[in-house]
Amino acid sequence: QDQSQMGWDVIVVGSGAGAMTSAVVAADQGLSVLVIEKSDKFGGTSAISGGGIWIPNNHYFKAKGGQDSYDKALQYILAAGGGKADETKVRAYLDHAPKMIKYLEDKSRVRYAVAEKYPDYYQHLPGALPGGRSLDPELFDTSTLGDELANLRRPSPSTLLMGRIAWTARDAHVAMARERGWRFKVLGLMLRYKFDFRWRRKSKFDRRAGLGSSLVCALRASLLDRKVPLWLKTDFRELVLDGDRVIGVRVSREGRELTLMARRGVILGAGGFEQNQALREKYLPQPTKAAWSATPPGNNTGAALEAGMAAGAATDLLEWAWWAPTIAVVGEDKPRGVFAERAFPGAIVVNSLGKRFCNEAQGYLEFGDAMYKDRDATGGKNVPAWCIFDAHFRFNYAMGPLMPAQIMPDSRLRKEWLGSVYWKADTLDELARQIGVDPAGLNDTVAKMNAYASSGKDADFGRGDSVFDRYYGDVNVKPNPCLAPIQKGPFYAMRMDAGDIGTKGGLLTDAHARVVRADGSAIEGLYAIGNTSASVMGTAYPGAGATIGPAMTFGYIAAHHIAANA
Ligand code: FAD
Repeated sequence: QDQSQMGWDVIVVGSGAGAMTSAVVAADQGLSVLVIEKSDKFGGTSAISGGGIWIPNNHYFKAKGGQDSYDKALQYILAAGGGKADETKVRAYLDHAPKMIKYLEDKSRVRYAVAEKYPDYYQHLPGALPGGRSLDPELFDTSTLGDELANLRRPSPSTLLMGRIAWTARDAHVAMARERGWRFKVLGLMLRYKFDFRWRRKSKFDRRAGLGSSLVCALRASLLDRKVPLWLKTDFRELVLDGDRVIGVRVSREGRELTLMARRGVILGAGGFEQNQALREKYLPQPTKAAWSATPPGNNTGAALEAGMAAGAATDLLEWAWWAPTIAVVGEDKPRGVFAERAFPGAIVVNSLGKRFCNEAQGYLEFGDAMYKDRDATGGKNVPAWCIFDAHFRFNYAMGPLMPAQIMPDSRLRKEWLGSVYWKADTLDELARQIGVDPAGLNDTVAKMNAYASSGKDADFGRGDSVFDRYYGDVNVKPNPCLAPIQKGPFYAMRMDAGDIGTKGGLLTDAHARVVRADGSAIEGLYAIGNTSASVMGTAYPGAGATIGPAMTFGYIAAHHIAANA
C-alpha cells in the first residue's frame, strides 16, 4: 500500500457532464481540483448521450421571445414527480439551472441552442410547454482538444448520421420527422463530412462533435484551459473519513493503491449502478440485465453508491432506472436505445400474446415502466417486447440499426443480423411463430391498428394525440402522423429489451447537493450529483435533458457550496 498522501481542495469522482461542470466551477472559485475517472476514456454515458439538458426558464428561449416561468415549471415538475420530487430540491434546481448554463456559456467552451420544438414529455400536466426547455449542444470542433481527443469516449453510432457524421438534435429531428427539405439537410451534412479532406486523412471520425460528445469535449477543453488534472484509469474504491467527515478517497490507479486527500470536499459524480448485475437484481424490478443497458459496459457499477451507504448515507428511488427500451445489435458492445422510432407511423410494439400494452410513442421512461408495470394487466410477457412493422415502414423509416431500406436494403444488412437483430417473414402468422408470439393475438392487434390508422384515433392508448407523440411522427402522414397500416409484406420484427440509459435512484442529497443521512443531517465533506444521487425529478422524466440538466446544475451548486462553506 502506497502511503503517500496527495491533497487537493476538491476531488471529483467521475468525468461525466455533471462531474466536469463541478470541476470547472470549483476551479473558477479558486479551489484546487482533481478529477478521477476509472476508465481509460473521459466522458462516461454523458459522452455517448444526446447531450440535451432540460432547463426551464433558460435565457436562450427568452431571447427568442419564448414564454416560461419559474412557477409554471415548479407546478409541472411537482405534478410529474409522482409525489417523490422534493419541493426544496426542485426549487434549488429551478433557481440554479438557468444560472448554471448562462455561466458555462459565458465562462467556458460549452455552447447550446434552444430546441424550440422539443415538447415536454407530459403534455397533459399543468405547466407543460410544447417546446423551449430542452437545450441542444452546438457542434464542437474536436481539433481544439489536441492529443486529448484520443481519450474521448466516442459516441454510439446511433447518435451519428450514417454511424459517422455529427449532427445536432435539431438537424436529426428534421430528418427523422421528414420535414420539408430534409433530404438537402442530410446531403449537406454528408458532403461537409466527405469533403473535409484534411481531417479525413487523420481520422474516420467527424472533425465536429455533436450531442453529448460535443458537451463533454467542450467541458474537457474548459478543464484543460484551467489546467485541472483529470486522471484516467483511477478507480475510486472508498471514502476516507475523519470521524463523521469525509476527508478523501482511496483509489486504485494502474495497480497502485493511493489515498488522495480532499481538504474541502469530495463530489461523487460516478454514475449509477446500471452496469452491476448483482445490484440490479437487488434493487430493480425483474427480470433485469446489465447487458440491456445502453450505457458504456463496465463503467457505472455503483462503487460511489456503496461507498456513500457505507458512510451512513440514506438512499432513494433505487427501484427506478431511466428506462428506455433497447435493441441488442450483434457486433456492438452495447444495445441501442429506441427513443424516436416508436413514434414513427406503422410500427407497433406487442407482448408475448401479440397485444400492445401501452402508447408506443410516449416517453421512454414510461414505455420501459410499462414493460414491467403492465405485465399483469395484459396477462402477457412484455419483457422482451416485439416491435412489428411491414415493408412500407421498412422502406421509409429507421428502426434501431436498420436504416430505411431506400438507403440500406435488406441485401446490404449484415447477414448475421437476420434472426438476431431482426426477423422477417411473408406473413404475420409465420413472423409470430418465428419470435414465439401468439399469431392470433398479433393478427387481431394489427387489424385494430389498421382501423385506427384510417380513423386517426388510437382507441386503446391514444397514440399520436399529444404534441409530444407527434414530435417524431411523420408530418406527411394523415390524419395521424404516428399511425399507419401494417399490410404490405414482408413483415418484420425486432426484439426490445427492458433497457435503460442509467439508474435513477441513488444517494439522498439536499438542496446543496450534500449527501444526507436518514435523519436529514448532512455528511460533511460529501456531495453527490448525477446518477450517483437520487433524481430531483422523483419518478418522472419531465423532458429531454432531465438527467444531464440536473447533473450539471447540482455539480454547479456543489462547487459553489464547497467554495462558500467548507
Ligand atoms: P456518467 O456520464 O456515466 O459519468 C460517470 C463516470 O464515472 C463514468 O465515466 C464512469 O466511468 C465513472 N466512474 C464510475 N465508477 C467510478 C469509480 N469507481 N471511480 C472513478 N470513476 C468512476 N440524458 C439527458 O439528460 N439528455 C440526453 O440527451 C440523453 N441522451 C442519452 C442518449 C443515450 C444513447 C444514452 C445511453 C443516455 C442518454 N441520456 C441522456 C442519459 C444520460 O446520458 C445519463 O443519465 C447521464 O449522462 C449520467 O450522468 P452521470 O454523470 O451520472 O454519469
